[in-house]
Amino acid sequence: DYTPLVSDFYGYSEALADREKAVLADLRDYLERDVRPIVDDYWERAEFPTQIVKPLAEQGIFAMPWEETKPFENSAVFRGWVALELARIDASVATFVGVQNGLAMGSISIGGDETQRREWLPKMAAADVIGAFGLTEPLSGSDSAQGLRTVATRDGDDWILNGSKRWIGNATWSDITVIWAKSAEDGQVKGFIVPTSTPGYTATKIERKQSLRIVQNADIVLENVRVPESNRLQNANSFRDTAKVLRLTRAEVAWAAVGNAIGAYEAAVKYTGERIQFGKPIASHQLVQNMLVKALSNITASLGMVVRVSQLLDEGKQTDEHAALAKAYATSAMRETVGLCREALGGNGIVLDHGVARHMADAEAIYSYEGTREMNTLIVGRKITGQAAFV
Ligand code: FAD
Repeated sequence: DYTPLVSDFYGYSEALADREKAVLADLRDYLERDVRPIVDDYWERAEFPTQIVKPLAEQGIFAMPWEETKPFENSAVFRGWVALELARIDASVATFVGVQNGLAMGSISIGGDETQRREWLPKMAAADVIGAFGLTEPLSGSDSAQGLRTVATRDGDDWILNGSKRWIGNATWSDITVIWAKSAEDGQVKGFIVPTSTPGYTATKIERKQSLRIVQNADIVLENVRVPESNRLQNANSFRDTAKVLRLTRAEVAWAAVGNAIGAYEAAVKYTGERIQFGKPIASHQLVQNMLVKALSNITASLGMVVRVSQLLDEGKQTDEHAALAKAYATSAMRETVGLCREALGGNGIVLDHGVARHMADAEAIYSYEGTREMNTLIVGRKITGQAAFV
């Protein structure tokens, strides 16, 4: 049975259907039993626990959003809640899922034609094919809407890709990577499903990360990588189509940010109830209660926002600005929250053993990927003022 989280103070989970709650209950059981006990060690070693991939697939986690693969009709609030439950245990695991089923499968679902969707989505839902999403480049991060340097040149029935990508999640071990490149023909951004075994494609792990250490990010080099026209996403004709994928995933990153904050908050509540200073639990000191209540306020406000942003998606009303506002706000609130939780643990806040340090470190990457706070702020700023302030 689904038990509401104590940190769901306003009972937002009442928006979920019974069947959705049942899936979440099973997911939480699995995560508590098989994932929570191992993530600190994997985080420290900067390795990905590949043994969790199939069990997640068997629970339908990668299949949920897509018409071709969904096991039952489910809501965007539910899918967001999946991201929350994952990140509550480990934000890297949530990121891995977000790349597989949001960015990679999302690109194929939104940008692909029916043949491409039928070919790839079932295999990816079963995790028989692992995907990655290559947009960011060494010289183009926030400005990737206009600044991409990777070029796709048409050659008969094929395309030849040249360029480089940076930060690409899952890409050290993905079977395919969706590469976004500027067409030499019309200058527009197009997407290509690139099998990673294609000659000329190399991916090198980015070492020494201090955030989301479990996620395997790669630098990719593309040297005369040849892919057939049938691997070009047939319905992705400009960056506007890429942005459709990012709108969906940004909203889910906002959910993951809430989950990451909740993970730290729960650990802080537990620790402050047990740690004795001045003859009583530190949770009974007023200033410590203030930290916990500020953390809960951030979580509660963010949760309200992400629930509504997902409802807007189901109502067909969600815009880029809605998703951008939720991502900017929830990740900022998360960053403050994990800091407060760290503070509440004193010195023990910075070691992995007490359940806060990993969430604190992971917050930094979540804050910056899928559009930094500044970029998401400028997207909303353009909407409310009518003035684009990017350049
Ligand atoms: P920059 O664009 O160089 O920005 C640096 C700073 O300048 C930021 O604070 C930014 O907000 C600010 N800035 C830039 N322009 C402006 C402006 N006009 N006005 C105000 N401020 C500005 N990318 C992928 O394609 N696929 C992935 O799977 C992926 N996974 C990632 C995983 C991790 C762990 C990380 C860290 C990144 C990942 N990324 C991925 C890349 C991520 O999306 C970029 O890091 C992000 O978009 C920011 O780009 P940047 O790092 O190049 O920073």
